Amino acid sequence: MVASGVTGRTRPTKVKKQANVQKRKRDDVDVEKLDEAVGELDPKNGSYKDFTDLPLSDPTKQGLKSSHFAVMTDVQAKAIPLALKGHDILGAAKTGSGKTLSFLIPVLENLYRLQHVGTDAGLGALILAPTRELAIQIFDVLCKIGKHGHMFAAGLLIGGKSLESERQALVRMNIVVATPGRMLQHLSQTAAFSVDDLKMLVLDEADRILDMGFQRDVDAIIEYLPKERQTLLFSATQSRKVSDLARLSLQDPEYVSVHAEDKSATPKGLTQNYIVCPLEEKLDTLWSFIQASKKSKILCFFSSAKVVRFVYESFRHMQPGIPLLHIHGRQKQGARLDTTAKFSASKNSCLFATDVAARGLDFPAVDFVIQVDCPDDVDTYIHRVGRTARYNREGRGVLFLAPTEEEGMLKRLEAKKVPVEVINVRQKKRQSIKEQLQNMCFKDPALKYLGQKAFMTHVKSIYLQKDKEVFKLKEYDLEAYAASLGLPGTPRIKFMKGDDTKQRKQASRQTIEVSDASETDDESTKQTKTVRTKYDRMFERQNQDVLADHYKKLVRDGSEEGVSASANDFTGDGAAAAGDDDDFMAIKRRIPADSDGDDDEDFGATADADGSAVPGGRLVRLAGASQPIVIDSNRREKLLKSKKKLLQFMDKGKRLVYDDDGNPHEVYELENEADFRARGLPEEQRKKFIEAARQVVEEADVDDKAAAKAKRKEKIQKRKEKERAKAEGGDGGAEVEDGGEDPLANFIADAESSGEEEEVAVEKPKEKKQKKWFQSDSEDDDHNSKKRKKSKTARQVVEQPETLEDMEALAAGLLG
Ligand code: ADP
Ligand code: MG
Repeated sequence: MVASGVTGRTRPTKVKKQANVQKRKRDDVDVEKLDEAVGELDPKNGSYKDFTDLPLSDPTKQGLKSSHFAVMTDVQAKAIPLALKGHDILGAAKTGSGKTLSFLIPVLENLYRLQHVGTDAGLGALILAPTRELAIQIFDVLCKIGKHGHMFAAGLLIGGKSLESERQALVRMNIVVATPGRMLQHLSQTAAFSVDDLKMLVLDEADRILDMGFQRDVDAIIEYLPKERQTLLFSATQSRKVSDLARLSLQDPEYVSVHAEDKSATPKGLTQNYIVCPLEEKLDTLWSFIQASKKSKILCFFSSAKVVRFVYESFRHMQPGIPLLHIHGRQKQGARLDTTAKFSASKNSCLFATDVAARGLDFPAVDFVIQVDCPDDVDTYIHRVGRTARYNREGRGVLFLAPTEEEGMLKRLEAKKVPVEVINVRQKKRQSIKEQLQNMCFKDPALKYLGQKAFMTHVKSIYLQKDKEVFKLKEYDLEAYAASLGLPGTPRIKFMKGDDTKQRKQASRQTIEVSDASETDDESTKQTKTVRTKYDRMFERQNQDVLADHYKKLVRDGSEEGVSASANDFTGDGAAAAGDDDDFMAIKRRIPADSDGDDDEDFGATADADGSAVPGGRLVRLAGASQPIVIDSNRREKLLKSKKKLLQFMDKGKRLVYDDDGNPHEVYELENEADFRARGLPEEQRKKFIEAARQVVEEADVDDKAAAKAKRKEKIQKRKEKERAKAEGGDGGAEVEDGGEDPLANFIADAESSGEEEEVAVEKPKEKKQKKWFQSDSEDDDHNSKKRKKSKTARQVVEQPETLEDMEALAAGLLG
């Protein structure tokens, strides 16, 4: 087969052409024999074990041999004979069980026997896959098997390239692997693209392709295809919906569901666990898990592209010690391909992904699949977790469930025969990264923005979930979740507007009640104010839009004025309390001009304030301020007592610099032009200045270097002394805790802790290290405190003696 991506097949040279003609003749003989043998196949007798037991063409046999495929998997043994005989097939088999070959071999063979080859033959087989990555993977397998003598032109239509370049190659193609969207585009726009003679249609991950997301495209594609054809549907989670089968006009389809009788719907080698973990602790847990599994290949699933990006960007900044990758649907094609290739090739790395990577992808040797965000449904769970434990390999899946999701999801999993066991994370091993995230979000507005987006999309995804028994939006602690992402506040969510506004209304009513109630509440507000850190205030400032800032300011002023407002009320002023915020309105009803007599004494403290009456208040002139300020409320009067607050009304002084003789100068003083010219050409003056400056710098440099050298010497000396003292003090220094624990142990620990604890601890001396994961927290404490004591005694001796007592202690230590 000649397969060359989207460019179609390359034209063979003349010499090759002759060879091909000979081959074709041989093939003709071949074909008759093969047809006969296929006719004699008995798909139901189940005696076919190896690929060589089947009547396959030489090129296919050769391809399988060179790829080291010898023994068929269950699904292959059942599906291939049926498909060779031309049946429509509905194939269901677990993830990683070899479904790809189950349809690729029949495609190659059936077209081969039909001699559906060459430019004029047109499209013979169309294979649809839900994602580009999967289409590429299928195409790769097709090339691998088909390149040993098959003459088909095969192509890949997944978008990302210009329609025009694909168009030219398309006309000649015999087998196409495509995503539905791109296929439809060509069918409707490429005139010369004929599918009238299509013999086979294959849907990999059929249930996904037939679901809502692709419905429109797939229905339109089917409209173009001839009704007389063979249709093969494969998936790990096959639907048997009559409506789907009718849509595809399947004719007496054969159901091939090899694992239907199995106890579980997931592969044998797969260990499946779940952790109950509130939304706000997910990132802590994930981080800790990654830290404990740096030598593994990990695939983590999240609900949306934004969450993937945020977690990827933030974890990357925290230097996790394992290569991080990320993939989601919003990336460019090149980046996505790069990522899949890198992850496939890597031995240990961690890939953060959305469900674009959930289906079909065959990454070799994935150790863990972590579902950080709960999957939409059990089928998604099965596909995600199926990225590990493929083709008789082992693997482990860990599902993070929020406490509110646990019951519902477990029920669903059980109903679909997915066995999961709960495990607990050792609290001691769980690091909190909340503060680090907060710091990063604070320093980097872009990351904070990503975090906000991640929060919104995740909450939105929960909101949009169909299964309300599992996803109960109201029961998640969204504020804590926002905080756990490092966000300064909980972003407001538009689609929750209804509830939100109601809450806000209630909240404002509450605050009104509180401020009206009594002064005791002021204390509580004061208390909360004192707890607020500098960062909180800075966040508040950074994170507000213009309106909100303004609003904040009003509220802040308002609350301070609350007391004076009510005071006004009591004095029978009659003004509405609400009007107090606004200076323009307030002036009309503020302190009368003649009331300043008493107060002036109070102001004496400020010494330089002198007042004069104006309508609605009085003017006070401050020394150092060119403009008088209006005092029209008690609060403003109080303000006069604080020098610090008055500073803002002072004029800004002129900045002066002082020379060595103490004479003041302005920062920039312009020299008289004539004087300047008299000193020579500007260029020469510049050179002179630079020369002089260089000399000064050089001199300073010599001194600095000498000082630095001396310091370094001293340091080395000190270190040597310390080391010597340490050596003499024995080897009792604190050990550094070993970081190379087995990640599995961490997660198995609690699941199996019930009875096997001692057994594990005794088994091998090597296990001793692991024991840390199994030990109870109190044991750990004992151990650590012992260590601490040990190191303390060591340090006592090491420390430099300073006082006589120190010397005595040192001498005593040395003497034994
Ligand atoms: P599925 O589509 O069922 O999830 P794949 O077709 O992707 O599974 O196959 C899973 C893995 O098993 C692939 O790496 C593939 O190379 C391997 N595989 C498939 N069939 C065989 C076979 N007969 N012998 C050995 N390995 C196989
Ligand atoms: Mg597959």
